[in-house]
Amino acid sequence: MSDLFAFNGARGAGWSQPLPLIDKEVLISAIPAKLRRQNLPKWPRASEPEIVRHYTWLSNRNFGIDNGFYPLGSCTMKHNPRVNEKIVQLPGMDKIHPLQPDHHVQGLLAIYFEMQEMLAVCSGMDQVTLQPVAGAQGEFTAIRCIQEYHRQRGQGHRSKVIVPDSAHGTNPASASMCGYDIIEIPSGEDGRLDIDALKSAVGEDTAAMMITNPSTLGVFEHQIAEATEIVHSAGGQMYYDGANFNAIIGKTDPGRMGFDAVHYNLHKTFSQPHGGGGPGSGPIGVKSHLSQFLPTPIAGRREKIESDPKGVDDGYWYFWEDVGDSSIGKVQQWNGNAGAVVRSWAFYRRYGKELEKMSEHAVLNANYLRHKIMNPDPEIAEKIHVMPLNGAPADLVMHEFTLSLSPLKELHGVTGKDVAKRLLDYGVMAPTLYFPMIVPECLMIEPTETESKEVLDKFASDFHQILSEDPDIITSAPHTTDVKRVDEVWAARNLILKHPGNNSN
Ligand SMILES: *Cc1c(COP(=O)(O)O)cnc(C)c1O
Repeated sequence: MSDLFAFNGARGAGWSQPLPLIDKEVLISAIPAKLRRQNLPKWPRASEPEIVRHYTWLSNRNFGIDNGFYPLGSCTMKHNPRVNEKIVQLPGMDKIHPLQPDHHVQGLLAIYFEMQEMLAVCSGMDQVTLQPVAGAQGEFTAIRCIQEYHRQRGQGHRSKVIVPDSAHGTNPASASMCGYDIIEIPSGEDGRLDIDALKSAVGEDTAAMMITNPSTLGVFEHQIAEATEIVHSAGGQMYYDGANFNAIIGKTDPGRMGFDAVHYNLHKTFSQPHGGGGPGSGPIGVKSHLSQFLPTPIAGRREKIESDPKGVDDGYWYFWEDVGDSSIGKVQQWNGNAGAVVRSWAFYRRYGKELEKMSEHAVLNANYLRHKIMNPDPEIAEKIHVMPLNGAPADLVMHEFTLSLSPLKELHGVTGKDVAKRLLDYGVMAPTLYFPMIVPECLMIEPTETESKEVLDKFASDFHQILSEDPDIITSAPHTTDVKRVDEVWAARNLILKHPGNNSN
């Protein structure tokens, strides 16, 4: 039977499986004889050089934050400090199972508890759950809590959720998954929330308003307190989309702005490698009137008492706690994306009280880059339009900004997409494209806090260089990447989902 494990470290294989923590014989005897494998599986056999080449080849075909500048507006691609990886791979994190009893996992529970507390403090909320695994799922979870809140108060008839037209598509999608009708309100001339439009949208049927601040245009909604007042006096709840939390952390918080519920994108504000739909974490925080509706369990803490098994050494005992009968239930198996929570906790702990410096640098970098890009040679200046459309040029942005390439399109037939593709040839990732939808030929640029002045200067000069190139070069880009310009319609109609294998294109 022990040859079941013969592939561990087998000669000629360039890989190894982690050794089982449990005694092999014990493990095998736990499996009924008729279910036991008679032959070894047909594992691929490849030498170490072959394995190394394969993964290096794969990694080179991709573009990531470790290859170059990645100014993806809204979705925030931040540097992931390597120390987080060390921490998340400690055996106490990496080798535990979600069904282990509380007294086995005091370390992880302590981290969960601390993360809940830290998120609550920096957002001005009363209670946090770490369960949702994406911002979008956090939106859904919080809107469900708001829905239960209304129902419990005999206000179940409230059927409408208000979103500005600059909102991320997940906002209306989440609300509509909860069964709400969406009322979209137009933005004002300066790209900000139009208070009059909001006034005429609220009513007896308003369940909530969902909004991000700073908005997806990168501008701070300075009338947010007034907006909150309007929605609250109509009996609605205020929901804060935390995707842009990176811009304000330590400076102000959604609680102070009057919000009742918020989601955090740990992968955008703190740390967790993401992208391409990769792993995320979207905890939510709520004010106390909503906390009884949160999904369950959350991490709890009380002083250690004699009869308890050993806890961690800070005199407290941590446990998984049920929220109670009003809970909307679970939204995710187990306890959310523990890896993302631990990485973000490590990131947060490293900044500590200095966390607001992160926002300061993110905002400084965005304003510096915006200023550089919008002040080029005069013949280039006519090709771009920096948003907000009617904002004064000196207007400050927060952590990101948008610009419109519609002048370029009118002059030379070159679109925002063409410029985005051409940027790939210069070794940077294309910024977010065609979002928010209220900006024509939109590029949305978010440099993040860790980029140096040299990187930003280079990006601005590459960008200006592209705008002065022959339009044919731009419209046929990219020229240097593994995959050249793709025919998107063709690709969507003829999906190829099978891996083409090594060496082929
Ligand atoms: C990214 C984003 C979301 C959704 O978050 P996910 O974690 O991707 O599900 C919502 N709103 C805004 C403004 C975003 O940028």
